[in-house]
Amino acid sequence: MLNLDTSIEFLKGIGSERAKIIRNILGISTVEDLLTFYPLRYLDKSKIYLIKNLSEDLPDVQLKGRITELQEISSGKIKRLSGKFQDESGTMDLVWFRYSKWMKEQIPINKELFIFGKVTLFNNTFSMAHPEIEIEEKKEAETRLKPIYSSSEKLLKWNLNQKFFQQTLKNLMAEMPNLINENLPSYLIDDLKLMSRQAAYFNIHFPKNLEHFEAAERRLKFEEAFFFQLSYGLKKQYHKTNSIGNPMPKVGENFNTFYKEYLPFELTGAQKKVLKEIKKDLAKPIQMNRLLQGDVGSGKTMVALLAMLLVLDNGFQSCLMAPTEILAQQHFNVISELLKETGITVKLLTGSTKKATRKIIHDDLLSGELSILIGTHAVLEDIVQFKNLGLAIIDEQHRFGVAQRAKLWAKNKIPPHILIMTATPIPRTLAMSFYSDLEVSVIDEMPIGRKEIITAHRREKDRAFVYNFCKDEIKKGRQIYFVYPLIEESETLDYKNLMEGFERISEYFPNPDFNTTMLHGKMKPAEKDAAMQYFAVGNANLMVATTVIEVGVNVPNASVMVIESAERFGLSQLHQLRGRVGRGAEQSYCILMTTDKLTNESRKRIKTMCETNDGFKISEVDMELRGPGDILGTQQSGVVDFKKLDLINDGKIIKASKDIVEKILKKDPQLNEASHISLKNFYVKQYKAKNKWGKIS
Ligand code: ADP
Ligand code: MG
Repeated sequence: MLNLDTSIEFLKGIGSERAKIIRNILGISTVEDLLTFYPLRYLDKSKIYLIKNLSEDLPDVQLKGRITELQEISSGKIKRLSGKFQDESGTMDLVWFRYSKWMKEQIPINKELFIFGKVTLFNNTFSMAHPEIEIEEKKEAETRLKPIYSSSEKLLKWNLNQKFFQQTLKNLMAEMPNLINENLPSYLIDDLKLMSRQAAYFNIHFPKNLEHFEAAERRLKFEEAFFFQLSYGLKKQYHKTNSIGNPMPKVGENFNTFYKEYLPFELTGAQKKVLKEIKKDLAKPIQMNRLLQGDVGSGKTMVALLAMLLVLDNGFQSCLMAPTEILAQQHFNVISELLKETGITVKLLTGSTKKATRKIIHDDLLSGELSILIGTHAVLEDIVQFKNLGLAIIDEQHRFGVAQRAKLWAKNKIPPHILIMTATPIPRTLAMSFYSDLEVSVIDEMPIGRKEIITAHRREKDRAFVYNFCKDEIKKGRQIYFVYPLIEESETLDYKNLMEGFERISEYFPNPDFNTTMLHGKMKPAEKDAAMQYFAVGNANLMVATTVIEVGVNVPNASVMVIESAERFGLSQLHQLRGRVGRGAEQSYCILMTTDKLTNESRKRIKTMCETNDGFKISEVDMELRGPGDILGTQQSGVVDFKKLDLINDGKIIKASKDIVEKILKKDPQLNEASHISLKNFYVKQYKAKNKWGKIS
């Protein structure tokens, strides 16, 4: 008897050969995979169109008539098969670009039949490519919508066409009662008026009508959201009972004095809110694991500093880690400046810290002399030991892997609280699924007085205009970034581009009136710092750089960013880059230079950038364009593999399932009640087995 884990080679009409091909092309290997190979769309065969009523924007249509002509046409080596189709209202063309002799002989001439497919208008005549043909006498009455599955040249080459999938799924439907057990408690199904699981699988492939399809889809979406939330809830529950942390309930002198006397500005409401969340977490005897999301420039550094002061008040040490030397240096500069009058010492540890200094830092950390350390990955080295590390903050998380986070945990007997800060604003549900073990805080408000950055799209023909604009801005005392793309496949080529750009710009902005400096990945850390410093203090008006400057760098007087070949950048990267300007009081500009010809996707990216400064909106468009799996880099993709659930549009379902799961776990944390047995069994089998979901302890 079949079950969900049965290999598809044992299904009627497949066999080992075809099973292998299907597995290779579609990644489908079990009955369950096949069941969740959901149709892309559906054909309504209850309706018959007339040729005279056709239009190009119709979905696939059904027509009734006869094929009156069929001939092979060759142009050079390429052959195609062309036919005429006639119904009571007119005539149209049929065409096959791929066909076999056998297939050609099967096509009946002058016989009543049905054809299905998508029509396009060509030379004023409608034409259908590769129509699906059904002879009238053999045709059963259609009472259901017909599923259309994703197809490809490769599949068709092996004759794995729509008919094949439709028939295979139809055969499978007969087995449905043996295959599918309900996995949701019956009270939920009743309350939410959900379709049963069995009916949902049936109706997602062969819905009777649109309502049945919608009900099936709703059920399957809910199920995905529900089990995702369950795993999330269980993980949190597990964490709460198993992850001890040092409680830090005190708000003491360091925090209060700084807050009252040295805070250079009033915190935004969002900063206050987030700080409160962190305070509350720190006070508990449970390890904090919090993700702090805030758009570029929203003021995450200050939140980090205040959290470190709280920790200090409770007698513990903190460290703040950044992904690059430049950034670590910058945090160090900003924070030591802020703490200058307080007597609290801060030190910087990076790969280029001198040996002697390093030794002193190591000693001071161990003795507890040093309470705030700022650094790069160098902080993770085993030789770096703390007396009592209470909080580790990681800036710009997407450059830090999970393994590195784990290393931090081990730096203290009782693991330190962890705060991860990211400027890649991602929709909350996506954040939850990526960092499923983290709580999420969001700074959703910018400091007041910030001017919106004006963003414009310019092309090669506008270059002189753009340069003149830059000259005017420089005359007003501003500084300018020119950014060149860096794509790993062709580092040398990019380097060449950068050098040419540098020369061109130096020529256009000549010494001594202007001064241009350069920053790129091939420079040594010390050289990079020097170049950055040179620009930051205003010695150069222009900086020509690669994306090295993408993250975090802060030069408030730089108010124009020109991004070359902007079509080669991803959306979130463009947004990060743009965040380097708009940091001072002046009106800032971002100019996106592109070639004349753009793909639809790059046009959409550029347009989005010109229309909005809102990082969350941008990340949503990004997610639409690239799919959630890609957003945070390939190493983490695959974590979100929803088949039906759409993280952007199904917010309501996601929220509802979250509330329901919370209620269930509150009442029955181990899922031991009779009504939850099927739920638990399913969860344990499906999710725990895959080893990426929360534990039931
Ligand atoms: P990001 O979140 O991108 O790391 P930063 O922490 O670098 O942002 O802050 C950007 C700038 O905004 C800094 O110059 C900082 O001093 C300033 N800033 C932060 N919070 C406030 C505030 N509440 N009011 C005014 N300026 C602020
Ligand atoms: Mg920052």
